[in-house]
Amino acid sequence: MTPDRAHYVDLLSRLVRIGSINPAFSDGSTNEAELAAFVAREMEELGMETRRFEPEPGRVSVLGRLPGAGGGPSLMLYAHLDTVGIEGMDDPFSGEERDGRVYGRGAYDMKGGLAACLAAVRTLRDAGIRLRGDLLIAAVADEEVASIGMADLLRHATADAAIVTEPTEMRICLAHKGFVWVEVETFGRAAHGSRFGEGVDANMRMGRFLARLDGLEKELRASPPHPLVGPPSLHAAVLRGGTGASTYAAHCRLEIERRTIPGETEELVLAQIRAITDALAAEDSTFRAEVRALLTRGGFEARADAPVVRSVLGAAAEVLGSEPQMVGEPYWMDTALIADAGIDAVVIGARGAGAHETVEWADIDSHVQLTAILARAAADFCGRAE
Ligand SMILES: [Zn+2]
Repeated sequence: MTPDRAHYVDLLSRLVRIGSINPAFSDGSTNEAELAAFVAREMEELGMETRRFEPEPGRVSVLGRLPGAGGGPSLMLYAHLDTVGIEGMDDPFSGEERDGRVYGRGAYDMKGGLAACLAAVRTLRDAGIRLRGDLLIAAVADEEVASIGMADLLRHATADAAIVTEPTEMRICLAHKGFVWVEVETFGRAAHGSRFGEGVDANMRMGRFLARLDGLEKELRASPPHPLVGPPSLHAAVLRGGTGASTYAAHCRLEIERRTIPGETEELVLAQIRAITDALAAEDSTFRAEVRALLTRGGFEARADAPVVRSVLGAAAEVLGSEPQMVGEPYWMDTALIADAGIDAVVIGARGAGAHETVEWADIDSHVQLTAILARAAADFCGRAE
């Protein structure tokens, strides 16, 4: 079960050359649809049945299914199609191979993983291996912004387990953080700057809130850390209040990002913040505030005894020669959506650099290793038909 390195490099280069910037980061002229069509053709060439999902115009995801012989569990390999923007990049879609690397936007995050998913199916086919369970590949839109692609795909499809191939430097990721975006508004009363008896200053009231939020932030970071992802945290990300120097601010608005550890809920996050606004309101009847959640993405933690974790661990140890490190990642991935849909999930991806930066590249050797790991893990998890 040795992947074809030259074929892998050619495939990854072609994926990079099809720009698939998330429309949130482009002028809207490039998106995932063309790449999804290319990926669907590759899947069909590998004998996979394909389904296409388009929850919003032009936002296309594709699901490939290699039917198993029967009698084994199904496994979904996952990669996202979209990339961040290309500002400041010299030749973002070159797909050039140089010094054991493939360069270009998305090579590392995560067309390298997408190519490995496709190449793993080819590797199994070339080795003459037929699986008992179905092997799926989910190639989805919009991971970099709102995950509408995977959220939609999971309404139509499922599997017994999933391997997410976001780049983890050949480590097995068993947990990642979630986040909650929280809006806090304070309300005052507008008045001319000379009329201190009439004005109620919403910005000053937000100041009181921020001073206590700073205390909560320190408490969170001092709380017992999660063994894989560390402690929770928050930051006061966006602050806006007032209309002009000679006017008492009637309104001030703050957006907080609260990074959660697995198990922390939106309710818990809101309760901690409302405890502050409630205390301030009890101290001063002119303090008025509203707190609401804008977007919540839960954290992820794998079941350590899940069969897919054992399959990936065994395959990685065989391919790499030793057991890979088990880690947590601080950033959010679609893995949490997969786990929330009741699918056992684990993350393993390859090496590279420059995600969201101006020079991005994927390390070829580790991506070929990833391909071999995915093929072996699929054979182990789905079972081999005789
Ligand atoms: Zn990614």
